[in-house]
Formats: sequence, C-alpha cells, structure tokens
Amino acid sequence: MSAPAHTPDVLVIGAGVAGLACAHDLLAAGLDVQVVEASDAVGGRMRSDRVGEFVVDRGFQVFNTSYPQVRRRLALRRLGLRPFTPGFLVHTEKGRLRFSDPTRRPRNLPDLLPGRLAGPRDLAALGLLSARDMLAPVRLVKRSQDRTTRTALADAGFSEDFVERFFRPFLSGVFLEDGLETSSRFFHLVWRSMLRGTLCLPTAGIGAVPAALAAPLPAGTVRFETPVSALTDEGAVTADGTELPAPTVVVATGPAPGLLPGLELPAYRTVTTYYHVAPRSPLREPTLLVDERRRFANTCVLSDVVPQLAPPGSALVATSVLGTDDDKRETAVREATAEVYGTDTAGWDLLTTRTVPDALPAMPPPQPLSRTTRVARGRYVCGDHRWALARCKRRRRKTERASIITTGAPRSGPFSPAARKCGPSWSPNSQWGVAMGRSPQSRPRACLKRARPSGSSMIGSG
Ligand SMILES: Cc1cc2nc3c(=O)[nH]c(=O)nc-3n(C[C@H](O)[C@H](O)[C@H](O)COP(=O)(O)OP(=O)(O)OC[C@H]3O[C@@H](n4cnc5c(N)ncnc54)[C@H](O)[C@@H]3O)c2cc1C
Repeated sequence: MSAPAHTPDVLVIGAGVAGLACAHDLLAAGLDVQVVEASDAVGGRMRSDRVGEFVVDRGFQVFNTSYPQVRRRLALRRLGLRPFTPGFLVHTEKGRLRFSDPTRRPRNLPDLLPGRLAGPRDLAALGLLSARDMLAPVRLVKRSQDRTTRTALADAGFSEDFVERFFRPFLSGVFLEDGLETSSRFFHLVWRSMLRGTLCLPTAGIGAVPAALAAPLPAGTVRFETPVSALTDEGAVTADGTELPAPTVVVATGPAPGLLPGLELPAYRTVTTYYHVAPRSPLREPTLLVDERRRFANTCVLSDVVPQLAPPGSALVATSVLGTDDDKRETAVREATAEVYGTDTAGWDLLTTRTVPDALPAMPPPQPLSRTTRVARGRYVCGDHRWALARCKRRRRKTERASIITTGAPRSGPFSPAARKCGPSWSPNSQWGVAMGRSPQSRPRACLKRARPSGSSMIGSG
C-alpha cells in the first residue's frame, strides 16, 4: 500500500453533482476537502460528450431555473442557458395540441379554450391545481397525503381521458415510468417548478452544470481515476491499495453499490436516448413533444434549443424511450417520429444511442422527501437516492441530533442537522431534479474543534 499525501477533514467519494455540491459547501465553510472520482471527469450522470461535430448529453435531460440548490451555488448567466418554450406539445390522433402556460405566453391563450385542449371540467381542475401548486408553501406539499400521481389527479377532478392524453405521456418522461405510479408529493413539486421556472439547456450541454460547480474548487480538490474500493476505519482505500485517511467520509457515488453494503438503495429507472441527425429542423421550435400513444417518452430538436450543439446545416433530434435499447427500438422510434414531426425520417442518421440504466430512482408513495444522510460515526451518504429510501430512520435521526447537541457541535455547523440532509434537493421539473447537498452554513472551524473531542471524528459520538 502506498502512503497517503495528506489527511483532509472530509473525503468525498464521487464527483457527480451531489459530491461536488457537498465539497463546494464544506470548502466554503472552511474545511479541507478531498474529492476522489473513479472516472476521468466530473459530472457522473450529468455529462456531455462531443460526437464528431455534435454535443450530446449522456441521456436527454433538461435544466430548470427554479432548482433552488443550483441557484444558490451557480451564476446561471455563466451557463449560457437557452430556454425551451413554456409548456409542451402533444401529438394526438386529432393533430398536435399545445399545453401551455397562458400567464407566460398570453398569445397561446386560445389553445386553452374549452374544447381545444380539454373540456371545462378539466380546465377548471387544471387552473385549481396549478394555482395551488404555484402558491402553496413547499412544506404543505411535503406534508400532504401521499398517494400515486394517478390517484391524486383523479381526486383533483381530472377526467381519465385528459389524464391519459396529457399527463400520462408528459409525466412518463419526467418519472421515467408510464403508469403514474410515482409519489403525488413529487408530482406536485414537479408541477410547481414547471410553473415557477423555465426549462433550459446550457449552451455547452448539461455537463456544463457540474463543470461550473467544479470550477471554483481549488486546484487538486478533485482527484480523477481514483476508484475507491472500500471504506476503512481510517477513511477509505482505492482499488490499487492507496489509503485515503480522513476522519469524515461522504459517499456520493450515486447508485453504485458496494461501499456501504448495508445501505438500502431504491430501484432505478432506465432510459435510452436516440440522437438523430436531420438535414433541417422538422419543428423549428425549441420545445418538448410527447406522444399520446406513448411510443416514446419525449422528443425534441435539440439544435432548435441550442444551435451550438450541431454544426450549421444540420439538426440534432433527441428521442427518449423508457427502458433499454434493442434491435427494433430505433426503427420504431424512427417511424413514430416520422408521424409526429410529419416528415420522412428514413434518411436521418443515427448519430449515437445513450442508455442510462440508473437514470432516476423510483419514487413510489409514500415519499418523505428528505432523509438522514448519516450512516455511522463520521460516515455520510448523499445523492438522488436519499429521496427514495427508508422512512424508518426518523428515530435514529432524533438520537443522532441529541448526540450532536450534547457533544457541542453547533446546530448550524457543517454537520449540523440541516447540513446532514446532504441528500438531494430535487428540484422538481423536467426529469427533474438535481441531487445536491444542502448548504452547510458557517462556523466550520469552531465546529471542527468542538465536535472533535477525541480527534478521531468531526461529529463526536455518533
Ligand atoms: C437520462 C437522464 C435524465 C435525467 N434528467 C434529469 C433532468 O432533466 N433534470 C435533472 O435535474 N436531473 C435529471 N437526471 C438526474 C440527475 O442526472 C441525477 O439525479 C444526478 O446527476 C445524480 O447525481 P449524483 O451526484 O447523486 O450521482 P452521479 O451523477 O451518479 O455521480 C456519482 C459519481 O460517483 C462516481 N463513483 C461511483 N463509484 C465510485 C467509486 N467507488 N469511487 C470513486 N468514484 C465513484 C461516479 O463515477 C460518478 O461520477 C437525469 C438523469 C439521467 C441519466
């Protein structure tokens, strides 16, 4: 085993957005942080690749300006965000219908006239739902009775026809499941951020978001191609046997199993995105298009949103389907997109296909929407799966809080109860939420001194 260079206060394993946000906040609080990442770059599931003259994300994803955790940490202007038009289009057997927010685009108001998009009953239900989700405090959503989204929509007064035609096709691309089985609490948060924020893509692709989070970190904070194989009593050890000592370790490895064998992980949803190149845009509008028949989750002319993603004289079309790729799916997608775009797609080139097996955690009800991230003394976990786990940890959290208070760690310190919710703050929108640590606040050194009576743990007794 080779000797370690230095011992940071905190070792963060994984440089996805959760690990980066965590490192960001701990550094801002004055702690010495080392991030180790198995791959060759930051971003985890939020990465973009150059394929020839095109830029593609590792699975189609969108960015919402109302993500609170992002806004807190990033200057959005630097991302060069390009907006989608508010709302989305639905391909139906009666033609293309626009689902739009008339408060943002008054000229689309006629689309919402009774009889076009929906009947009076569904429009009234839509108005009520939207007003409540937009205006009600988030804590009310979190405390609301949790059930499936399908049940919640029926209880809100929507007809089954409207649910099938609009909500189900659209939400299948959000939840990455098409049975509306996802938690209604999560749905309401998604709807809220749809209404409050704007769907966008950074000019350089979604990978610009983790890149911007990593940019202000001091040189050397993130060490690449350093896969951790196990946690040890002293910290962690890499696959080549290098020891990484640290009194506190945060595991931010996403759905990768192994480092915390006892940790319960949720099921994950799989999505496949086909990237096609067309000679020209078949839509000429930066918007999402969904299919009433759900032959795909959504499709979008990416180069209408961000022209820089494709070279001049070509259009880049992303079409996502639930599940994995197989021999026949691309052909089926080509046929479906020919119909919904009203154009011949036989000549489109398949640029690349991206399948992400662990794209999003499944979120069936009941979803508490926040969980403890402390797994043992000096051992923490964060990432999008912290939303989808164990409701039974409440009692342990109370005990833990008591022990922290008795050992003198300030409640506002970096490992205060608030900071320990380093799990995701899914800002619901699109597929939809960025899993990031919350901001640990202030007085880190004081915290460190007081909370480390034995010198072995920042947290004191756990
Ligand atoms: C196709 C797709 C669509 C999505 N749509 C959206 C969307 O529209 N909006 C949105 O906000 N979110 C979306 N998401 C979800 C979002 O990308 C994830 O929630 C988020 O990126 C998870 O971040 P994370 O840091 O928790 O995990 P990850 O991104 O998985 O990061 C984990 C990191 O840990 C590293 N790692 C793993 N094991 C080890 C090890 N042993 N040692 C060292 N390093 C290790 C990995 O290499 C990786 O870099 C989507 C995801 C996908 C894939």
